Amino acid sequence: MLLFKKESDLRIYLQQKKEKKALIGFVPTMGALHNGHLSLIREARRETDMVVCSIFVNPTQFNEQKDLDTYPRTPHKDIELLSRVGCDVLFMPGADEIYPPGLNTRIDLDFKSLDKVMEGAFRPGHFEGVAQVVKRLLDIVEPDGLYMGQKDFQQLTIIGYMIDQLGIPTKLVSCPIIREENGLAMSSRNVRLEKGLRKRAVVIYQTLLQAKDWIQEMSPREIEEKALKALAIPGFRPEYFKVVDARTLQEVDQLEKDHPLVACAAVWAGEVRLIDNMFLS
Ligand code: AMP
Repeated sequence: MLLFKKESDLRIYLQQKKEKKALIGFVPTMGALHNGHLSLIREARRETDMVVCSIFVNPTQFNEQKDLDTYPRTPHKDIELLSRVGCDVLFMPGADEIYPPGLNTRIDLDFKSLDKVMEGAFRPGHFEGVAQVVKRLLDIVEPDGLYMGQKDFQQLTIIGYMIDQLGIPTKLVSCPIIREENGLAMSSRNVRLEKGLRKRAVVIYQTLLQAKDWIQEMSPREIEEKALKALAIPGFRPEYFKVVDARTLQEVDQLEKDHPLVACAAVWAGEVRLIDNMFLS
């Protein structure tokens, strides 16, 4: 695996590969890699000739300095895992490579109501930062395929919208959520969970599974109310539980044919904020 820290070096290298018609798959991450991330690399390997992974803890998408400061960083382990899974190129830029002074990287795009709900409502500015960094990375890598996890469902939807609206010639590939043995969605933040909380955090997965049953006989609002109660176990504080249209991310009043619904949750487990989601139909 080759490691690049500078945008210009990476561009030159990738240009040579593109001239030879290699299809490039790209997996952007913030590091502290786990099996969820590695599943994206594997999927990209299956579909493309060359996989580029980036590790960059993007300051512009954090709305709490403490969360940025305590975000886990394990670069040596990440490099080893990526080499083992067959990643071809790792891009590990510093902030001044991604946001060089004088370069305007802000995205001027109206995400309609996609970025106002759920994560957008609780983390002001978060998706602006996500769109900004993903657009910047896409400009540098110019991949054929962008591989992202359904784990961050709203992020996936927003990036898909940006790609469409800006006419970016990259295919967005959604990859399934990889879970720990007990069902907890893998997340870099899980290592910050104290042992007991990590065990009990399975309540999020269990509640999502229950919502799948409940949708047969209850309205989305009733489900949300029931789920919030189920999630409020000692040590846990649900921030939201929403049943929304999987395309528009807007609340719906009932299950309708051809309108897939997804349940999305954000829950504080002690000091750690966890998100998860599941298609209900
Ligand atoms: P992050 O490092 O948290 O920014 O995540 C980088 C990419 O990995 C994003 O596309 C995430 O959706 C994806 N990802 C994170 N956790 C998982 C998981 N448990 N299963 C599948 N994809 C994941």
